[in-house]
Amino acid sequence: MKYLDEYRDEELARKIVDEIRRITTRPWVLMEVCGGQTHSIVKYGIDRLLPNAIELVHGPGCPVCVTSLEMIDKAHAIAQRPDVIFCSFGDMLRVPGSECDLLVLKSRGADIRIVYSPIDCLKIARANPDKKVVFFAIGFETTAPSNAMAVFQAKKQGIANFSVLVSHVLVPPSIASILQSPLNRVQGFLGPGHVCTVMGYREYEPLAERFKVPIVITGFEPLDILEGVLMTIRQLEAGSWRVENQYPRVVNREGNRVAQDLVNKVFEVCDRKWRGVGSIPKSGYKLRYDFKEHDAERIFEVKEIDTQEPARCISGLVLRGVKKPHDCACFGKECTPEHPFGATMVSAEGACAAYYAYGRHLEANPQTADVA
Ligand code: SF4
Repeated sequence: MKYLDEYRDEELARKIVDEIRRITTRPWVLMEVCGGQTHSIVKYGIDRLLPNAIELVHGPGCPVCVTSLEMIDKAHAIAQRPDVIFCSFGDMLRVPGSECDLLVLKSRGADIRIVYSPIDCLKIARANPDKKVVFFAIGFETTAPSNAMAVFQAKKQGIANFSVLVSHVLVPPSIASILQSPLNRVQGFLGPGHVCTVMGYREYEPLAERFKVPIVITGFEPLDILEGVLMTIRQLEAGSWRVENQYPRVVNREGNRVAQDLVNKVFEVCDRKWRGVGSIPKSGYKLRYDFKEHDAERIFEVKEIDTQEPARCISGLVLRGVKKPHDCACFGKECTPEHPFGATMVSAEGACAAYYAYGRHLEANPQTADVA
């Protein structure tokens, strides 16, 4: 299949791996930022093709995983109201809050609907003028433009019964937070290809300079990831740190300016709490005051709920690349995709869920046993 098979070519993959092996002279720890990259790495066994000296750890780039428990509980409080139609992408329905998930609330009679675009909610709001239609606007910079467009159109068209519960998160502050941690082991990053499609990669340049760390914006197919690893290792071995773009067929330095302008019109940067990690300064978007009539947190006055992660779950450490799923005593035992304890087992893009999906709960992980 065009645009897929050419990025899964076995012969080319072998050549890149050989080159990585040839240039690697010492151990290096790299982090892939996106959940989609984690999924490809585990699915194709890319981490196991690499020389033992190169360790891949998995980053915080799964938007479902990092949506805070407090925000999930706020969503539940709103969704249970009889005057509300609560709309969400499907993968949020199984995310556990303090007591249950949205699917359970739906089975108890709450009007919870799966949508494929926030724009669909505007139609639902128009068709149900006696109801308040709320969209659960989560995700990284990638989904911010479509959520901003829904709010912008609602205001423009006077659709007063539409609002959004916003829990957007931003990648660069999370990378800074990982690098500032005393527990940090990451020496180079495979940057987030999809996020940079929207945002470009200019904002990663000060990070590379400040922390002296190479960041290679990388795609999602096996050859993309292998090439991203090769480019990162080349920099590390040469003692350099800059932003490079492995994914030029999709990403450029400036990104999508039209989308960025719309996002900036509707959202402003705020501190954001990440599930399993805690609060990171300036790491999220909230609605601007001009759009307050579409802000579900204001409309429904959902109070701040301080919810704790299960003590045994180490997903906060997994999301920061300090530990891997195998290091958790619950992995594949008490905690499975059917009964997830924590953030990284909740979504298919989470590292624990990816390891489980590809059978790694059935085996020991010799690579990580002595590095955790
Ligand atoms: S396996 Fe489950 S309990 Fe363990 S870190 Fe992952 S999500 Fe948390």
